[in-house]
Amino acid sequence: MSDEPDFHLFIPGPAGSTPEVIEATGRPVVPHYGGRFVAAYNRCIDLFKAVFQTENDLFLIVGPGTASLDAALSSALPDGARVLVPSNGFFGRRMTEMCRAHRAEVDVVEFPLGEAIDPEAIRHRLEASVAPYDAVAWVHHETSTGVLNPIEPVAAAAKDHGALTILDAVASLGGADLPVDAWGVDLCVSVANKCLAAPPGISAISVSAAAWEAIDANPSSRSWYLDLRTWRRYREEWAAWHPFPTTVASNTIAAISTSIEQILEEGLDVRIRRTAEAATEVRDGLRRLGFEMFAADDVASPVTTSVYAHPELPVADMQRFLMERLIFISGGLDDLAGRIFRIGHMGRSIERGEVELLLGTIEEALRDAGVAVPEGADLENIGA
Ligand SMILES: *Cc1c(COP(=O)(O)O)cnc(C)c1O
Repeated sequence: MSDEPDFHLFIPGPAGSTPEVIEATGRPVVPHYGGRFVAAYNRCIDLFKAVFQTENDLFLIVGPGTASLDAALSSALPDGARVLVPSNGFFGRRMTEMCRAHRAEVDVVEFPLGEAIDPEAIRHRLEASVAPYDAVAWVHHETSTGVLNPIEPVAAAAKDHGALTILDAVASLGGADLPVDAWGVDLCVSVANKCLAAPPGISAISVSAAAWEAIDANPSSRSWYLDLRTWRRYREEWAAWHPFPTTVASNTIAAISTSIEQILEEGLDVRIRRTAEAATEVRDGLRRLGFEMFAADDVASPVTTSVYAHPELPVADMQRFLMERLIFISGGLDDLAGRIFRIGHMGRSIERGEVELLLGTIEEALRDAGVAVPEGADLENIGA
């Protein structure tokens, strides 16, 4: 189909897509309005709702995941809102930064890198506060450390104290279970190009009744495009013809619909299980090759594996070796740069053949660096 080289993306997003998704991306550009496109668009929203496991309103905002996070914060937080941010890594810190950019008064509850957020600590913090919090905002999958944070107990604590729940599920949705309604997430944000395995271009945000109440009561607006009231108005007033305020990334809509259809055909639960199995295979394989995991097994995310650098092979050298073979993994961010590397389990990278390719090539990289590796250490026991 194309002369492009065959890239193997083991980074935590964007993820490799199936041939059918690539084909959908490459179809001719269509007008982003009119009955035919609107039907396809609304179907895409329904497909997203199935993955979010939500009956809430859901909007597809053109842009990266960050655009929908900005939409959540800009729409729901009045100037001076009090927000509690449990944080355990780069994206938790970014959530704090974003809330402050939206003029919120932020209190951070900091947890060590590589550990999960502790819901009890959040509950205590909410209980101990004299003034109530307007919102608790946190990250489901902390992609910088490969840790999956708890949702339900944190959301329950927030609800018990009258706070809105705002969740960055950019990296987890479609790869880890996240029943948005059952777990009480008011504003949940995700994106097309991580576990949903479509090309970048579209982010998604679900909005609960409680979130709408907060949004309608918000006297401030720090955006027009990223104000959910704008999106709701266009959905109502231009429903039949153009139910969104701007041009839409129509090719990405076609691609993401195809990808979610494939996920639902396989079964969301099956996809989630396969993702976890790929993570386990990579963890086991890397351990046999002599690597040590950064996040402990009980908090490790199924979506990204974080691994300490091999004492005899610097991360940058290993990345270079892999990159020459079109295999891409990620290094560490900030304080963890040079200390860890990260492997995403999203889209194509969870396929058995891809996992074997990755482990086999890392084994080669070790041998190339003169590190002693037991013969076939990477592959034995896979799938056992
Ligand atoms: C990737 C990622 C983001 C940023 O997503 P963009 O689409 O680049 O805006 C935010 N949060 C988490 C947890 C991520 O993994």
